[in-house]
Amino acid sequence: MIEAYVGESILGRAIKKGVIEVEAVNIRDFTDDRHLTTDDAPFGGGPGMVMKCEPVFKAVEALNARRNGAKPRVLLMTPQGRRFDQKMAEELARENCVIIICGRYEGVDERICEQLVTDEVSIGDYVLTGGELAALVITDAVARLLAGVLGDESSPESESFSSGLLEYPQYTRPADFLGSRVPEILLSGNHAEIDKWRRKQAIIRTFKKRPDLLQNAPLDEKDKRYLRELQANEVDEPKSTTD
Ligand code: SAM
Repeated sequence: MIEAYVGESILGRAIKKGVIEVEAVNIRDFTDDRHLTTDDAPFGGGPGMVMKCEPVFKAVEALNARRNGAKPRVLLMTPQGRRFDQKMAEELARENCVIIICGRYEGVDERICEQLVTDEVSIGDYVLTGGELAALVITDAVARLLAGVLGDESSPESESFSSGLLEYPQYTRPADFLGSRVPEILLSGNHAEIDKWRRKQAIIRTFKKRPDLLQNAPLDEKDKRYLRELQANEVDEPKSTTD
């Protein structure tokens, strides 16, 4: 699952260029019984199976040994963890290396959480069948923040959340689609005015879709004045085009 996803598209190209490295580790390679057992029934009874300590500990130890004992952060994918967001993606992008443990079945033996894991991470309040999709979500969000992963032409800075606001609306050709026209300002070639328009649109979007983000968004005096106009007009964009 992991290799299929990271081998494609933007991540695939970044891996080929040697900008990032993603290694999928199969914990069955760290078992020593005939059946390559990685799970067992829960003590105390109950449904399902629990992932055993030994293969997971051995896998992490083997990875650390390869890094001369340097101990990277060890993330456990679990619906019980800290909710993953852009801030955490930025935090992880500053690490040289992270290890991500993916659970299956009922999850992992609690001693893995207590002794091996530095961060329990959830991608949202719902339960998946396994941690692989969650690990891929995190890998993808973190990788695209690293230098050289996205093409030179695209930058994550103005994107939703990075700037503290949602991103402004985007349009591409045709300028007129079935009578619906792209905002004229975007066709004007006046980049200073386009930047102002985009900033306002980002504020409008955030105000309408995610007003909770505005509390921590870095807004200058002009932005704040605009936001007050928006609030006074409820949800309609103020008609004035002045700053
Ligand atoms: N019994 C666990 C519980 O109730 O907390 C759920 C286990 S879940 C069926 C199996 C595995 O999927 C988990 O060990 C975890 O690795 C992964 N997983 C499920 N939901 C997740 C989420 N929201 N975020 C991150 N990982 C998740």
